[in-house]
Amino acid sequence: MNELKVIAFDADDTLWVNEPYFRETEDRFCELLEDYLPHHSVARELLQVEIRNINLYGYGVKGFMLSMIETAMELSQKTIKVDVIEKIIALGKELLEKPIVLLDEVEDVLQTLHGKYKLVVATKGDLLDQERKLRKSGLEHYFHHIEIMSEKKEADYQKLLKHLDIQPTEFMMLGNSLKSDVLPVLELGGHAVHIPYHTTWAHETIDSTIEHKHFKQVSSIKEVLSFLLK
Ligand SMILES: [Mg+2]
Repeated sequence: MNELKVIAFDADDTLWVNEPYFRETEDRFCELLEDYLPHHSVARELLQVEIRNINLYGYGVKGFMLSMIETAMELSQKTIKVDVIEKIIALGKELLEKPIVLLDEVEDVLQTLHGKYKLVVATKGDLLDQERKLRKSGLEHYFHHIEIMSEKKEADYQKLLKHLDIQPTEFMMLGNSLKSDVLPVLELGGHAVHIPYHTTWAHETIDSTIEHKHFKQVSSIKEVLSFLLK
């Protein structure tokens, strides 16, 4: 790992709590539509609408709100009442105002690695929302660069590496999504560490297991220090 220069951190469910807030909102949305379909069927419909809309809206709360409204219209065959739409919008706004809860040991790890590597945030989501979360997190000062990406595919990481002016082998990505934080980075020749979180959005999960010389799996973020401090 001698040549490693940049450690990039995913933000949602790597630095702070995110997915449980979405699941909580989804539960309340499903309750609103209980007259039309059972809870789990509403959730399944919503996921399909969200995935269909990703190319148009990208990731984040605003797209999620629009997808909830679209799902409500579809499931009610356009009979949904305006006051339900109003409640859906309120659910989304609440989601945008959730407190930032840092995950255990995150700040310790950043403090320890700060000055030894260039630390970067690489996250998807709404630009304004992610900027707000970073500001509220109190972690901004640890980072040399913050990249808010519309997607986390190879081309997006390539752009980041170019911006940082480094080779893939000098880059390590840490995150909770194998699909977004690990696979594309390994594909480029970089290093990646998977830090699983107890809840993962269905669209971010993959079935295969990964074996790669540049890949590590840890059970908590603090474990990265065991190989990054050598
Ligand atoms: Mg994440």
